[in-house]
Parts: sequence; structure tokens; C-alpha cells
Amino acid sequence: MPFKKMLFTCLIWVLASDAAFSWGLLGHRIVGEIAGRHLSAKAKREIKKILGNETLAMSANWADFIKSDTSYRYLNSWHYVNFRPGISKAELLSHLQHDTTANIYNRLNFLVSEFRENKTLDSDRKKLYLRLIVHLVGDIHQPMHAGRPEDLGGNRIPLHWFYEPSNLHKVWDEDLINYQQLSYTEYTNSIDFSSRQQRKEWQSTGADEWLLESFMIAEQLYAGVGKGDKLRYEYNFMHIGTLNDRLLKGGVRLAGLLNELF
Ligand SMILES: [Zn+2]
Repeated sequence: MPFKKMLFTCLIWVLASDAAFSWGLLGHRIVGEIAGRHLSAKAKREIKKILGNETLAMSANWADFIKSDTSYRYLNSWHYVNFRPGISKAELLSHLQHDTTANIYNRLNFLVSEFRENKTLDSDRKKLYLRLIVHLVGDIHQPMHAGRPEDLGGNRIPLHWFYEPSNLHKVWDEDLINYQQLSYTEYTNSIDFSSRQQRKEWQSTGADEWLLESFMIAEQLYAGVGKGDKLRYEYNFMHIGTLNDRLLKGGVRLAGLLNELF
């Protein structure tokens, strides 16, 4: 095998074997960028004091980058929460109230309450917590982060995305978004449209409702594929609207939360 081809094959193998964790780079950056465009002047100032010149878009992936550092391993379960298939709205909300293992819902609540109530937070903590909030509000809106426990939110449902091996989780983290071939600012420019009324409505709900929405979408996504399916143009055509809606709502709600906190 020629060296170039061998290198390419190795690269594909490495990419394909990498377990999916959360919205890829692009998804998180789009959510962060949209949020940045809907901040109040005061929130912008306060956030700049904490993050310096790091924009929300660029801070959004920090929580995935540090997964390589074992001292942050405790954060691994913070990115998602799983639900049994077919549970009712009441069961889902009750699960969120009672599940004490570190999950995306109770950890986001913790981070938010730290900003609200802990007057002794030092600058390092503030930076850590803010970066995590930006990331987790994004992940909450990725439907497969509210998927089923038995297949790790779709990670164990193998699929093909065009000619590459993938899985249901990864299709929603990365494949669909990357397929659009836009930078995060181009992507934001193309979907950041909402009325004041819509933003008000979206921002009036809490993280439990956001997870309920994600769960209900995830249930449909599970029903729409079978193991080994080859997803192509039609899947993109059918789901691009849902994908963009989740990214937009994630960004607008993140802005709402930060405007309220700062
Ligand atoms: Zn994540």
C-alpha cells in the first residue's frame, strides 16, 4: 500500500474508533457564538472579566478538551443523562428530581447556584464553572445526550454516514453538522433568526423542559434507524431542520441564562 494511502486509512480508522462525547467542535461553537450575539451589555462586560479575550464560542469546547486529563475524569458523567425508552413526562421529571448521580441536569443546577449564591468564588472557579455552563447547555440540546442507558445514548447503534462507519450518537454530535461544510460563524449567520417573542418563550423554560424536548426527539431518532443503516442525503434532508432548531434554541437559552446570572 502506498504510504499516503496507508496514512489516510490509519486516519480514518482513528476517527472512526473515537467514541463520541458531545456536540463536536462545531456544534458547541455555534451554540456559544449564538449566545454571544444575544448577551446584554452588562453580561458581556461581566463575562469578559471572567474569560478575558476567550469568546463563548471558544470556551465552549474546553470541557471536552480536558477529557484527556485524568484529574478531570469526575466530569465525564456531567455531559448527559439517560432515560428508559417510553417513560412519561412525569416519570422523566421525577427521575431528574431524584437522580443523585452526577448528571448534566443536577450539575448544571449546581454550577448555576454557585454563581447565584456563592459570594466567595475565586476567578479560577468562575472560569471553570462558566466554561462548563456554556458546554452543558449545548449538550442538553443534543437529543442523543438524553438517550437510552443500554446503548450509551446511541453510541452503540452502529450506522454508516455515507461511506464512513459511525453511530447514532456521532451522527448527531458531528456528522450532520460537519456535512453542511460551514464554519461556526457562517453556520451562526445562517440560522440565528428568531423573533423577540420566540426568544422570550424559549428562555422562559428550564433545563428539565429542555431535556424533555431532547428526550422526545431522541425517541423519534431511535425509531427512525436500524443497526447498520446507511444514512445519506435523505437523512440530512429530513433532519437538518431539527438539528438547526436545537442549535439555535441552545444558543438563545444559554444567552438567557447568562443574562440572568450576570
Ligand atoms: Zn459534552
